[in-house]
Parts: sequence; structure tokens; C-alpha cells
Amino acid sequence: MVTLPNTYTALDARVSAFLAQEQRLLIGGRWLPAHSGETFTTYDPSSGLPLAAVPRAAAADVELAVQAARAAFDSGPWRSGLSPLERARLLWRLADLLEQHAEALAQLEALDNGKPLATARSVDVPLSVDHLRYFSGWANKIEGATIPVNEKNMFAYTVREPIGVCGLIVPWNYPLLMAIWKIAPALAAGNCVILKPAEQTPLSALYLARLFEEAGFPPGVCNVLTGYGEEAGAALVDHHGVDKIGFTGSTEVARAIVKASVSNLKRVSLELGGKSPNIVFADADLEQAIHGATWAIFGNNGQSCTAGARLYIERRVFEDVVEGIAEKTRAITLGAGLDPSPHDLGPVISAEQLARVTGYIEAGLRGGARLVTGGERLGGVLAGGYFLQPTLFIDAHDDLSIVREEIFGPVVCALPFDDPAEVLRRANSSEYGLAAGIWTHDLRKAQRFAAALQAGTVWINTWGNTEAAVPFGGYKQSGHGREMGYDAIQLYTEVKSVWTYYG
Ligand code: NAP
Ligand code: MG
Repeated sequence: MVTLPNTYTALDARVSAFLAQEQRLLIGGRWLPAHSGETFTTYDPSSGLPLAAVPRAAAADVELAVQAARAAFDSGPWRSGLSPLERARLLWRLADLLEQHAEALAQLEALDNGKPLATARSVDVPLSVDHLRYFSGWANKIEGATIPVNEKNMFAYTVREPIGVCGLIVPWNYPLLMAIWKIAPALAAGNCVILKPAEQTPLSALYLARLFEEAGFPPGVCNVLTGYGEEAGAALVDHHGVDKIGFTGSTEVARAIVKASVSNLKRVSLELGGKSPNIVFADADLEQAIHGATWAIFGNNGQSCTAGARLYIERRVFEDVVEGIAEKTRAITLGAGLDPSPHDLGPVISAEQLARVTGYIEAGLRGGARLVTGGERLGGVLAGGYFLQPTLFIDAHDDLSIVREEIFGPVVCALPFDDPAEVLRRANSSEYGLAAGIWTHDLRKAQRFAAALQAGTVWINTWGNTEAAVPFGGYKQSGHGREMGYDAIQLYTEVKSVWTYYG
């Protein structure tokens, strides 16, 4: 049984029971250990303490899961027997179950990822529920078209069909939500899924696996494999029985996935990294912009693909805005995920990630950038966890690694600019193109920038909004395809054109 610091919120009885049990993979409706019998440990990043041993799935387990998902897709009730309305009902029922188990899921997320329990309760779990409900509504609305054709006595129409077996590989920053972003449209469209969560955060996926069963999905429709990316993940990507990979993660791993997918040319959709520009003009509501820019980067500890990490500020308000952000940043409170006293942020995800982020901070300092605030790991009662002060840099040259590369941690560079053409050029000079923000009262300027910024999402006088109905994804090396909304249904369906001659 896991022993947690006695300063933590008492665990929900369902979480205690869950953590006390041996963890199993969900494959074809059966609960199995890894074929090798091996496990790996997941840790609480707030304390560094072990939470649970989970099965270390590898190629043999992927083989079983693909067979189960193939059988469910090719000959099971899912495809031929269940009506779209029944699929919708199952997704709605899963959403209801997430709601009933909201506290357990939020606690597991706070333990495994370190984010404040309050955040998991108010963001991760409710957004997952909304997502399932939204896509439940799509299940019986996936329509084709009738198309006027030139040939005489000919009739053509299209149908959208599920792709088949989808391997869904997700990261650790929003473990449950990232999984649901993919599972919901994939199931709504009638696919079968094999979920592979990140090795740092397998617990909410394993808990979700139980809810799949309770909701009543037919065996093999939803499978969950915990394991390492290079083993379970790579085997999934490599497998000829997998028709599609839906991936959220780093651009580096995405390149390996695209290469490996070549063997059977499986479909691949990618939600990747970013280094998003956030542009504050002098004519903005500066109070709003200061608040927005602070949370654009420090929300979720900078561990968001959309983090507003390049903060361009018009020179004549530069000092005021930087001072305002510094003041807000110094007031940010950190604490363990399950610390009951209110706090804004948790630790970064792991010792490895902490070392990576502090490496960037050191490189920034060596490169001549100056710290306004932050930069230090926290000691005292938080010394066992991976707590890093939110960090604000100025005087960073555009070609420093802290300005160009995705840090995926609580580090922002404030960069002055003089005119709109210059800042647009600098904002777009990135290999990434996930999101961008503009703060201004000038509607024409805002719209000109919205049109010219190379980004999948542009926020005007706001930051970070995502909803199930609004497409989300990246330009350039930030991804392929769009999740959310009808675009996500398109990502999980094939189009068939049918011609009929009636002459
Ligand atoms: P990551 O290292 O790329 O890992 C993502 C997932 O891929 C994990 O489940 C990982 O398993 C697995 N994986 C690793 N190597 C693999 C391989 N060779 N084949 C198949 N799967 C493999 O990313 P991360 O560090 O967890 O997450 C941070 C990244 O995700 C950032 O770049 C961030 O921007 C991006 N992100 C993007 C979005 C978006 O929607 N655009 C949203 C959130 C995060 P292991 O955990 O076992 O390595
Ligand atoms: Mg963990």
C-alpha cells in the first residue's frame, strides 16, 4: 500500500481501493498482466514517492490488443450490430460515469501528474465529460453527401466509415483529457481503440479502463496498455493490424512515428509541440493583458503545448507590462497536488523534466538573458518534489534556445518590439505553429494579425480557450490534422464514394 505524506488531502475511498489493487491491462474485455510479467513504477512528482506498479506492456501485449480490437471491429457487434444511437448512448453513459467518479479521477490526476486537485476538479475532469457528451452527439450525425455528376444516368454519393483499429498515444500534461480528446471522436465514428498513456501518468487511464467496462462497451472496443513509448508505443505504431495512430506529444517522437508508419501507410494524426507567440500592443487593456500573459505561460506550469512562451511587448509599455507580470508571478503559490491549502501550481512532471528545464534556464543565463524573477528549485518541505519557481526572462536574444525551443516548463521570455511588421515576422519565424495571441483594442490590427499569424489557433484578448466544438491543431511542425469539432470526426473516418448507373 502506498504511503503518502500526512499533509495530503485524505484519499477518496475509491482511490485507496484502486491503488491497493494489482494493476492490469484491459485487452479484449479481459484484465491481464503484461505477458512478460513485468511492471514499472509511477511516482508522485510532488514528493518523489512511488504510487503504484503498473504493467509494462510490450510487443506481445500489443499483439493481443490488436487481435482483440481487430476482432471487435471486423466481426464483433460494434460495427454491424450497434446502431449509431446505441454508440451515442454508450459515450453519454461513459460521461455520466466520469462525473460519478470525478473526485477519484481528479485525485489520481493530482497524484500522478502533480497538478493541484482544484485544477483537476475544475478543468481536467469536467472538460473530459463535456468532450464525451459533445462527441456522443456526433455518433448519429455522421453523414455523407449526394453529388451531382456529369455522366448521364449516374448517381454518386459518399459515406463516412470508421477507419478501424486506432492506436491512441498520449502525453502526461493532461493525461485524462488528452486521452478523451481522441477516444471520444474515435468511438463516436465507430472505431475500436487501443490507448497508450504516458509512462509518467498511467493511473487515470487504468481507472478509465474500468469505466469502459462499466459503461458496457463490447469487449475489444476499448483497450488500455500501459508501457514505455519505445516498447508498447513503438510496437503499436509498427503493427500492420493498426489502421490509424492518433498521437499527442513531442515533435521529436512524431518524426519517429511518421517513419515507422510507412510500412503499412497507416493514417497518422499529430498534435505536437509549440513555442507560441503572445503579442501585447501598447493600446491593449494592459491589466487584462498582464493577467492573460502570466497565465498563458504559467498555466499548468508551462506544461501546455499552447504555452505563451514568447511574449512580445510593444517597447513603450515594455517595462510596465514586465513589472506587472513579475508582480503576479512572484505571487504564484506552489504546492503538492493533494495539499489541501489553496495553491496555483504543482511540480513539473519528473526529475528528468526538471533537469531539462533548469538546463534551459542556465543556457539562457549563459547566453546573456537576465532573470526578472524565478529560476530556482524550491527546497524546504517541497524539496522531495520537482518544484521550480515560475521564471521570467528579459534581454533574451531571438536566437537563444530559450526563445526558439519548446521548454515545456514554467519559463517565459519577454521580448520588446517596435512595430507591427517586425513583430509579425518574429512571431512567425518558428518551426512551430500551434497557437498565438494578440492583445489590442484595435479591431483592424487584431484581424490583420489573426489572418497573418501562422498558427492553428489565434486568441484575441484572451488565451488558452479550447472547447470540444472548436477545431484545434497545428500549422508547420506543430501537427497534422485538427482535433475537436467535426474536424475530429473527419480524422477518424474514411470517405467512400459510391457510383450507381441506372440507365
Ligand atoms: P513525448 O515524449 O512525445 O511522449 C508522448 C507519448 O508518446 C507518450 O505516451 C510516450 O510514451 C509515447 N512515445 C514515446 N516514444 C515513442 C515511440 N518511439 N513510439 C510511440 N510512442 C512513443 O511527449 P511528452 O513529453 O509526454 O509530452 C510533451 C509534448 O507533448 C510536448 O512537446 C507538448 O507540446 C506536446 N503536447 C501537444 C499537445 C497538442 O495538442 N498539440 C497537447 C499536449 C502536449 P512514454 O511516456 O513512455 O515515453
Ligand atoms: Mg506519475
